Amino acid sequence: MESASRYCFVELDEEQQKETFDYEALNADVDRRRKEKKVRKKVQKKEKEEDEMLALSDDDEKTEYSAIPQARLRQVRKADPNVLAIKLGTLAQDAVTLFTGDPVFCKQCSAALTEISEVLVNPADSGQQWKCEYCDFLNSLQLEPEEMPKGESIDYLVNHPPDKSEFNDIIVFCIDISGSMCCTSEVTGDIKIKTNQQLSQSLDQFIERQNGVAAVQYLPNESREISYVSRLLCLQAAITSQIEQLVKEHPKKRIAIVTFNNDVNIYLPGNIKQVITGDKLDQYDFLINSGNALANLLQIPIENSHEELTKIVLGLEENGATALGPALLTSISIAGNSRGSSVILCTDGIANIGVGSLENYVPDDNSPAALFYQKVSDDALQKGVAVSILSIKGTTASLEYIAKVSADTRGINHIVDPLKLTKSFNFILQNTIIATDVSATMFLNKALTFRHEKNVIDNGFKAVREVGNVTAESTITFEYFPQDKQVLKEAKELCFQIQINFTKLDGSRCVRIMSKRIEVTHNRDEAEKNVNVNVVGLHCQFQAAQKAAEGKYTAARMIQKRNMRMVRRGMATEDVKEEQKAQYELWNQEAVRLNAAIKKTKLKEKAKGINYYSGEEEGSDSEEEKVTIQTEQVQKKNQKQQERKARRGEEDDDFSNQIYQAKNPLYSAFTYEENGLYDNDEE
Ligand SMILES: [Zn+2]
Repeated sequence: MESASRYCFVELDEEQQKETFDYEALNADVDRRRKEKKVRKKVQKKEKEEDEMLALSDDDEKTEYSAIPQARLRQVRKADPNVLAIKLGTLAQDAVTLFTGDPVFCKQCSAALTEISEVLVNPADSGQQWKCEYCDFLNSLQLEPEEMPKGESIDYLVNHPPDKSEFNDIIVFCIDISGSMCCTSEVTGDIKIKTNQQLSQSLDQFIERQNGVAAVQYLPNESREISYVSRLLCLQAAITSQIEQLVKEHPKKRIAIVTFNNDVNIYLPGNIKQVITGDKLDQYDFLINSGNALANLLQIPIENSHEELTKIVLGLEENGATALGPALLTSISIAGNSRGSSVILCTDGIANIGVGSLENYVPDDNSPAALFYQKVSDDALQKGVAVSILSIKGTTASLEYIAKVSADTRGINHIVDPLKLTKSFNFILQNTIIATDVSATMFLNKALTFRHEKNVIDNGFKAVREVGNVTAESTITFEYFPQDKQVLKEAKELCFQIQINFTKLDGSRCVRIMSKRIEVTHNRDEAEKNVNVNVVGLHCQFQAAQKAAEGKYTAARMIQKRNMRMVRRGMATEDVKEEQKAQYELWNQEAVRLNAAIKKTKLKEKAKGINYYSGEEEGSDSEEEKVTIQTEQVQKKNQKQQERKARRGEEDDDFSNQIYQAKNPLYSAFTYEENGLYDNDEE
């Protein structure tokens, strides 16, 4: 458990809590600036980036708020570093103390007794007394000294793993072979896609050769080094190279191939093939059952099946429509045979056949399509399957619902240049699930409560978070604030505890209990000094993405700015660390990216006649801005937001992608840059 500050900050002066913002500038009209920039197209990208950076990090220092008309300004709550981050990637490691006994729980709030608990002798029965650090309840105990839990982090085994002699997870490549996959991409210079002998032969079918040079299909005025390869061909190259790699690195994994166009074809090693077609594609239960039955036939590991699978992949041809929904469902059902398995969906089009069809759909959270993808997502989570999505750049894949499936199941969601598929595959296969069915319960002292938390219980000091699947990169954050300042005036230290229930990949059920004491301060400078930038950045990106997804764009920017201001205040000391600066820089880049996506969406909405003004948001985030507003008005505004979301339509794959990347802690853990996945994102 990491805290954003070494202190828990309790502000006692109400006035000190507020700061001023130019609310209108947050929502400034960017149309004009864009037009101007188009004139200087060459420097556009760089300038835009610098401009955005500035907008986020430096303009506050330059803004003279006294010169701005009062009506434009808002007083908002200052951000504070009362944030905790818990890295869930460590759940797979057994490095912490493993207890075979049961935890001792508080009889009133069910917090666990840990190393930081104060246990006293009970004068009545020579046993012990434990006054719960969270709810103050006085528990009587009868503990032997060796039963006292030790260590900041303890695992308890709840259920032993079921007997399973061999345990090998499954990867299902779920591949779009609809007609649009024949679209070509430009290849400059050497063909960068990895080829083997079989693929070279396959390449020959696509690339006409002239005098033995594999660079043809010239268009007028084009250099002779440019050639064109189809999306499917790129995909075939990427998948065959993945198969080769899997043979070397994970020879025991089992691989299935599911393709979709008008039908769904399932290929398993050992010459097993099933076709699902016609009205069967509309039958949810049939698809699930088929997947289950096939999973039992999936026995041969990749080390013994790679040649057969490579042949299947290279033999694929594209034509027809896009039965994405049925294929995805069947793939999840196959992968669900073994916890921690993955489905990698590669597509370039809109699902338009069978269950989950998005043809002519209107975005609405209660539409059959939305409900279908929600159900698919729940099924995948229940079976411990991660769904990753690679959609081909430059296409319309209507990602909104599909992206949600990948975000919910902790898969990767990436819009990818067909020529760079291999890199994305590598990234996906490195980020596999390490624990499933994860839920976390956070305990605060009862004088504190949570901000932004949906599932808060027991008078506000406990919150439950359903996490589902967890990968090595997964992190969750919690933000808290005082609810009883009188109590906190006297407190020197406060305790924090998290109980994480999870299922390991071997099927054993465990609970990990972590607890921490944090000193209390009433001095803002003290709290903000030495701020943990990564913790604040992660939390802030997550919150901002959440707001943006709800259509509350100004609120999203406000969250970023307030938190960045806070971090800069904390770093404005002499002993600012290089590490902090570097972390701030990375966070700023992430923030800029999200911001650019928001701006782009606003412009698109404007072009469609959906007028946006920040006033719509007022009252929708009253906790942040302390604006009270009539309920009727709020409803109207929410309705407007819904309408806008509905009209946003299918062109927003980039936006959905950005939002889900920011919401998925994997991405906001600032690992994206290192993996170089961003270098192809600019159009
Ligand atoms: Zn308690």
